[in-house]
Amino acid sequence: MRIAMISEHASPLAVLGGEDAGGQNTHVAELSTALAGAGHDVRVYTRRDSLGLPPTVRAGAGVTVVHVPAGPPEPVPKDSLLPYMPEFSRVLVGQWQTGDWVPEVVHAHFWMSGLAGITAGRQLGLPVVLTYHALGTVKRRHQGSQDTSPAPRVGYERALGRTVDRIVAQSQDEVRELVRMGISREQMTVVPSGVNLATFAPLGPAAPRTEGRARILSVGRLVERKGFQDLIRAMRLVPDAECVIVGGPPAGLVDDDPQARRLLDLAGECGVDDRVRLVGAVPREEMPQWYRSADVVVATPWYEPFGLTPLEAMACGVPVIGSAVGGITDTVVDGVTGDLVPPRDPQTLGRTVRRLLDDRIRRFGYATAALERARQHYSWQRTAEQLTAVYAAVGAVRRPTRAVA
Ligand code: UDP
Repeated sequence: MRIAMISEHASPLAVLGGEDAGGQNTHVAELSTALAGAGHDVRVYTRRDSLGLPPTVRAGAGVTVVHVPAGPPEPVPKDSLLPYMPEFSRVLVGQWQTGDWVPEVVHAHFWMSGLAGITAGRQLGLPVVLTYHALGTVKRRHQGSQDTSPAPRVGYERALGRTVDRIVAQSQDEVRELVRMGISREQMTVVPSGVNLATFAPLGPAAPRTEGRARILSVGRLVERKGFQDLIRAMRLVPDAECVIVGGPPAGLVDDDPQARRLLDLAGECGVDDRVRLVGAVPREEMPQWYRSADVVVATPWYEPFGLTPLEAMACGVPVIGSAVGGITDTVVDGVTGDLVPPRDPQTLGRTVRRLLDDRIRRFGYATAALERARQHYSWQRTAEQLTAVYAAVGAVRRPTRAVA
């Protein structure tokens, strides 16, 4: 099948760990590779954000990344990209109308890609599948006036949900949110993200440990909603352990980064600065070493559409203490592969981490079950198989072409 992935801001080629680069980049990269591995022909359309980028890049057998000239050829925050989506869809239509490669299905990632995808897809009579990755309603609920999303986001997300041929939700929690938005359950299929089980595995090199200290690892962009401040506060209840945070600015720039500084200052105020270390961004291929070096991985965001990092830890055979939000309530099984705690609750988090670090038998049980669960339910091959069935189902429905103004 010829599959067009649209990921307007998240290129699979992007360096991960920056402000706007994270799980979606990984998701699109791994999913495209898995689909190509199953014999499909995948093109990923992403915005050209630098003059130096070639129009297309071969990103492995069966995967081509197409840089779409829409908006200035420079980095633009994703919340400012909406005005360029009409241009984006015009480029898609132009390429698919006149080129020698026409997709059989369009899979859009994020709502703005959904807009570009549905506009182009409806003109050419192509089926369109949408994965939101994040929902504006949830973001607004948690971030309030700090949410910089374009004002029409939620309205567009609702309209897209009612228009696309299928919504691929990533978790049961997302399904509940979408139903609350007035979108029919019938429109949705749940297909979780996966984890690369060849890369993320228990055996292999581990990052060096500090002698005599248990290690708590947490991974992600240093934005407030990832909850690192709650973990740093929780460290007061976990004596003798160290907390290592991976992600955020490049390693050499941690001390100058305002978000990193805020966390380090908080560690100072809490009297745990000698046990909190910010590593900065780590290349994707080095991530397994960090997970393997940990006794427990803590992922306690305030909200999380899916959350790849808990799954990556589980695939490395490391127990996860996660907040009971979003996709984490599907991946982490409370009391079996790890512990679920309420978000924004450093007291409960601290007590839960301490209990787990004090109990080697429980840790071993969680680690074994976590590895088993990741391997059984969350391979990218499985995700690709489930999506292929979705693509086949929407592709089997004939739809008329129509001009969209
Ligand atoms: N990541 C990475 N290097 C870093 C920090 C994060 O490669 O320094 C990766 C991490 O392994 C995961 C992704 O970035 O694959 C983060 O995805 P997640 O879904 O946890 O969070 P998001 O950033 O999408 O909110």
